[in-house]
Amino acid sequence: MHKVNALPADDPSCGWFRTSRHRQPAPAATGDIKTRWAIIGAGLTGLAAARQLAKNFPSDQIVLIEAQEVGYGTAGRNAGFAIDLPHDIGAKDYVGDPQVAKMILKLNRTGQSIMRQTVEENKIECQMRACGKYQAAIEPKGIAVLEAYQRGLEKIGEGSELIEGKDLPDHIGTSFYRRALYTPSTILIQPSAMVKGMADTLPSNVTLYENTAIRGVEYGEKITLFHKQGRIVTDKLILANNGFGQNFGIDRLKHTMIPLFLYGSLTRQLTEEEQKRLGGKPYWGVIPGSPYGSTVRRTVDNRILIRNSFSFNPNGRPKADCLDRFIKNHRRSFLRRFPMLENVEFEHSWSGYLAMSRNHEGYFGQFAPNVYGALCCNGLGITRGTATGTLLADWLAGQRNDLIDMLLASPGPNKLPPEPFLSIGVNATLMWDGYRAGLES
Ligand SMILES: Cc1cc2nc3c(=O)[nH]c(=O)nc-3n(C[C@H](O)[C@H](O)[C@H](O)COP(=O)(O)OP(=O)(O)OC[C@H]3O[C@@H](n4cnc5c(N)ncnc54)[C@H](O)[C@@H]3O)c2cc1C
Repeated sequence: MHKVNALPADDPSCGWFRTSRHRQPAPAATGDIKTRWAIIGAGLTGLAAARQLAKNFPSDQIVLIEAQEVGYGTAGRNAGFAIDLPHDIGAKDYVGDPQVAKMILKLNRTGQSIMRQTVEENKIECQMRACGKYQAAIEPKGIAVLEAYQRGLEKIGEGSELIEGKDLPDHIGTSFYRRALYTPSTILIQPSAMVKGMADTLPSNVTLYENTAIRGVEYGEKITLFHKQGRIVTDKLILANNGFGQNFGIDRLKHTMIPLFLYGSLTRQLTEEEQKRLGGKPYWGVIPGSPYGSTVRRTVDNRILIRNSFSFNPNGRPKADCLDRFIKNHRRSFLRRFPMLENVEFEHSWSGYLAMSRNHEGYFGQFAPNVYGALCCNGLGITRGTATGTLLADWLAGQRNDLIDMLLASPGPNKLPPEPFLSIGVNATLMWDGYRAGLES
């Protein structure tokens, strides 16, 4: 048996989880369970794969296994930007090869439309708003990014609007930024509310087990998954557990995904008087010019989200001292942008695991006999995970199309350098890029 030596254990204070509908989690797995299909991980990828597999194989039983509660892991603790546009930070104009960029756009739009359809058909309350996003900058470097990106977007026929700093308060209340690039096609969501709703409306041939961490796996003609209270024997296994997939004893996946932790804080709800003082539109989302700057949102229920700061946590678990330290960064970033709200305190602060690869590629397809998966979303997993989970289920049902072909042709993430070089390299990059983000942090 291969022992799984890294399990998720997110901190308990995620604002999206706490402020969304309380739900009764599905029971944990017990005893011996036999199934045709088992999916590990009920994040965006696993939920999408389960839904589509159930549709493609209506007479098969599908088991979806989640170590924590649905909505409690990364899928429920991100910033909630369902982004379609490609943003290749390795290219001068952030778009790069137009043919590749158009395919990424098509993949992400597929994810957006599946997400939208699932939310609408199942009447999931998750503050979903197709309100676009502002990429906003204050530092000269960030401004240059906006201008280059606008040129890149033109190349693929995507419209955007540059908004000068003096006009930004009408949009987002704050006069902090010098310029912003508005793109209309991003959808904002309350991420935990959305995945909770998706879990509660799965087709009837999917059985969800929550609070069931897979701790060991035995590969063979049938695959046996071991958890605290029993075993699950499956004909086919799908790994949808993001960076944790690299601990499942499959050579190709080992030591390829960087466990980065990101940090977020959510304020209490603003009073009516505070909303007036803030001004601007009733809800919006801002991403930074510099990738290491702050993501900021005004939510539909009138809270402000700040997301910034990174840490490298090799065991995939949160570090309490980092969260305490980074809440201070959140406060500083909040006050810089919203001096008019200085008495508004944070109600929730949390961290979340993001799987990054060095070459920004993800995994899709077959990993071993009867083992498949879609892993490593590189920070844009809301749309990408939804699309790749669905397309994986289609491919397993024998379908092919240009998106599936593109995903299958990807070389996947490349190997990471050995320790201690990996830690030294990642920590130095985080420190240097964090410093370079300047006021945008
Ligand atoms: C703070 C933060 C902000 C972000 N902002 C955005 C954003 O605005 N837009 C965007 O698109 N993306 C964003 N992301 C990234 C996004 O959340 C991820 O890319 C996305 O959640 C990936 O989805 P997934 O289903 O592939 O993996 P995950 O959401 O990580 O789900 C994998 C699941 O597998 C479970 N699991 C792992 N191991 C086991 C095991 N052994 N047994 C059982 N279950 C297991 C985990 O508990 C987890 O729930 C952000 C991430 C963070 C941390």
